[in-house]
Amino acid sequence: MYDLIIIGGGPAGLTAAIYALRKRLDVLLISKDLGGKTNFRLQLPDVEQHLVVNGEEIVNRFVNEIHYLDFSHILDKVEKVESIAGGYRVHTRGGKEHEHPGGQYEARAIIVAAGARGKFLGVPGERNYLMRGLCFSAMSYAPLFIDRTTVVIGDDDLALLAAMELSRIAREVTLVAPTHGKLDSTIGQRLQAAPNVLILEGYQPIEVKGDVYARSLIVAKSGDTRELKADAFFVELGLNPNSDFVADLVELHPDGRIKIDARNQTSKPGLFAAGDVTDVYAEQVLIAVGEGAKAALSAYEYLLSQPVEETAAAVDEWR
Ligand SMILES: Cc1cc2nc3c(=O)[nH]c(=O)nc-3n(C[C@H](O)[C@H](O)[C@H](O)COP(=O)(O)OP(=O)(O)OC[C@H]3O[C@@H](n4cnc5c(N)ncnc54)[C@H](O)[C@@H]3O)c2cc1C
Repeated sequence: MYDLIIIGGGPAGLTAAIYALRKRLDVLLISKDLGGKTNFRLQLPDVEQHLVVNGEEIVNRFVNEIHYLDFSHILDKVEKVESIAGGYRVHTRGGKEHEHPGGQYEARAIIVAAGARGKFLGVPGERNYLMRGLCFSAMSYAPLFIDRTTVVIGDDDLALLAAMELSRIAREVTLVAPTHGKLDSTIGQRLQAAPNVLILEGYQPIEVKGDVYARSLIVAKSGDTRELKADAFFVELGLNPNSDFVADLVELHPDGRIKIDARNQTSKPGLFAAGDVTDVYAEQVLIAVGEGAKAALSAYEYLLSQPVEETAAAVDEWR
């Protein structure tokens, strides 16, 4: 039985793994990839990339270290986590692409750091221009849009905040709001009053067009079709947390985010969570890195607090 299994190899999971290794815990990282969403970068012509805070150096350093420590990780998809006496059992899918069959791994404690998936528009052209002018996370890229034109799609908190942030930097922001959504909120009212923001309420995105980069978005509302040209298009329809495999073990919010406390503990003792899969404020690399570190320290303390007979073997290994 491992001391700790970490699920997810993005900034949160990688940092947790490095901390756990430094504590000499017997740790296994199980992830579909190493790097998580930091493997995706918005590409645009003529932009000053240094304006983006992406934590690239620290994440790459951790990826290299985990690569080098071959024993510390496997690339696989976790399908289920179940509670067993003295810990948890993790079931993985395995399969052809992983070159080994699905497995079962047991640990005294678990950290879930499986991130969240952005919701797509589901229109033609979208996949062709993903990360080339069409992107998620205006929060990360807004500083690049000084005096540029942008489009944000969505009508909930995430989209309104994205449009607000861009409106403070960009020359022009068009918010395509498929429904009235949160437009009556204070931020919605601020947007309605902002001189450089145009709100197209009730318009549905139809198609993304472009050349090497996305150049325009076709939107329509009861027969009125428009082509919106811009330097970048932000899809801000919300996130789907990758928490399904612990959904019957821990308390979740209605949108699937795992509830955690300030020490990254979930409602289930010994099961911790970190990063975008949780209800922590703001989806950012540096926040995920900090959360991963906290979760590892918390899991370490949890392991030390377990009755001596259960952890005797592990303590021997730590010495
Ligand atoms: C396009 C884009 C660009 C961004 N740019 C920036 C930026 O410039 N700066 C910034 O600060 N933030 C940026 N963000 C936000 C930032 O990337 C995230 O907040 C951060 O990566 C969250 O880290 P995480 O470790 O919680 O999750 P993730 O990075 O999403 O990592 C999750 C990990 O879990 C693995 N996983 C998922 N499900 C399973 C499973 N069932 N079994 C095994 N493994 C699983 C995944 O393969 C992945 O390795 C961007 C986000 C997006 C979408």
